[in-house]
Amino acid sequence: MISIENISKWYGDFRVLSNCTTSVRKGEVVVVCGPSGSGKSTLIKCVNGLEPVQEGKITVDGDEVTAKRANLTALRSRIGMVFQHFELYPHMSVLENLCLAQEKVLGRGRKEAVVRAEKLLTRVGMEDHAKKYPSQLSGGQQQRIAIARSLAMDPIAMLFDEPTSALDPEMIKEVLDVMIELAQEGMTMMVVTHEMGFARKVADRVIFMDEGAIVEDRPTNDFFDNPESERAEDFLSKIL
Ligand code: ADP
Ligand code: MG
Repeated sequence: MISIENISKWYGDFRVLSNCTTSVRKGEVVVVCGPSGSGKSTLIKCVNGLEPVQEGKITVDGDEVTAKRANLTALRSRIGMVFQHFELYPHMSVLENLCLAQEKVLGRGRKEAVVRAEKLLTRVGMEDHAKKYPSQLSGGQQQRIAIARSLAMDPIAMLFDEPTSALDPEMIKEVLDVMIELAQEGMTMMVVTHEMGFARKVADRVIFMDEGAIVEDRPTNDFFDNPESERAEDFLSKIL
């Protein structure tokens, strides 16, 4: 579903990604971890074309993201992305947040968009909050709405960038539970997170990055039980 071949990226003289190669199969859940500044966010931004790369090739469902004439708008409407800071539209109700792109980008009619929105609100346990505005919700609730909003576009894959790291501890679980369910339903997911409980439970593979490089890319249990690199071992000893 997602293929990343030998990508490198520079910000000026600074090489932020070095020869990264990996892939995510349909239905696979891949967790990306590593120290702060190792390039995790940059890597997943490249996957949906939010950041250009100077070298290498990325394809999503056969379409080349890194092609000069890639239709990034069409591509992004097919890949859901959830960030650390739930970027809901503050001046719109929850329901409008979920309907906007369905109507404007996918061209769905009002009725269809509302039906889909309500279904997803139920799925993330937010069916009683459709009329509220983002500021009236907790961080965990806003993040669940952000996930529902992405799902409303019927994405072929979901990218997450530290979706729980800005949340108070008591809200982390409610967001992870939604993500776990999504993973178990077979969604293709690439998740930057340091929630290793989540990784152990649903990730098929773990990618460990350091200094812009993919240092390990291994089946989850192998990674945790027997990290190959000293850097991953050191990282795990600090966060587990
Ligand atoms: P991570 O998500 O692993 O913490 P990032 O991908 O955000 O890492 O950043 C990797 C490195 O690239 C960091 O050193 C960061 O300072 C640098 N960086 C990120 N964005 C930019 C930018 N727009 N311009 C210059 N340097 C950047
Ligand atoms: Mg980051």
